[in-house]
Amino acid sequence: MNLHSSTSGSGYRGRLAPSPTGYLHIGHARTFATAWRRARDAGGVLVMRMEDLDRDRSRAEYAEAALADLRWMGMDWDEGPDVGGASGPYAQSERGDLYLEVWKKLREGGFIYPCRCSRKDLAAAVSAPHEGAGRGQDPDDEPVYPGTCRPLRKGEGEFEISSDTGEEPRGMNWRFRVPDGDVVEFDDGNLGQQRFVAGVDFGDFLVWRRDGVPSYQLACVADDATMRITEVVRGADLLKSTARQKLLNRALGFTDPKWFHCELSTDEQGRRLAKRHDALSIRELRRRGMSAAAVLSAEWPSAL
Ligand code: GLU
Repeated sequence: MNLHSSTSGSGYRGRLAPSPTGYLHIGHARTFATAWRRARDAGGVLVMRMEDLDRDRSRAEYAEAALADLRWMGMDWDEGPDVGGASGPYAQSERGDLYLEVWKKLREGGFIYPCRCSRKDLAAAVSAPHEGAGRGQDPDDEPVYPGTCRPLRKGEGEFEISSDTGEEPRGMNWRFRVPDGDVVEFDDGNLGQQRFVAGVDFGDFLVWRRDGVPSYQLACVADDATMRITEVVRGADLLKSTARQKLLNRALGFTDPKWFHCELSTDEQGRRLAKRHDALSIRELRRRGMSAAAVLSAEWPSAL
């Protein structure tokens, strides 16, 4: 992994990190526009990173559409899958070696443990998961793990790993053991002071899945650190993920970036816009003849 990625005079490095699991919708577009604007205002570098780890749901056509739609809205980037750069590759699906290195570091430090619980076990054990939780689609909503496979002490939990399987995650889920009761705080550039309690607001979270894929949390800190991102601009739906990532950064000795969480766009009932709102995909709005400026400034729902 090349650590000598370009920095501009200002030193600011931001990123755009779309997940190509559907067409970009207006909510994403607004968050990305903020990320783009902040990087440009700072005279910094913007990195485009394709978050395509979810093999079942990611599609090349969505990745291409995301780049095209963002360009149509007037955004550009200095490093990325289509423009190259020194901190590539820029698709997470091609960064597996880095993620494995990070997994090893966490394991050597005693920060993670293997977990045999199935999704079904977890669904049964968690008393009141909110709707959609546990399906693995929203990293912030990962339910608090009830601790079934959690070893008594940090660094233990090697009971079922024989020496020949010690070097790889091998078909098991791995969880980060959170320091119960620790307060995780950060001063968000947009939303101000944030405070979460480990073990209460979120529990031992997945860093590796049994199907051989790192979790969003692990991949994100590995990428932000090696791409030397200085500010992460993302939706407020990821606030608890930021708290988890702060713990990962601490465990790995990575420097925290700054964080700027954007308010989520909501529909007329106050529900947050998601990819299932097909009518609000940038594709569809473009097809209907809306201008990029209108897409970014339109009030929901009257103008759409
Ligand atoms: N890939 C996520 C998304 O498309 C963003 C994750 C992040 O900003 O860390 O919403």
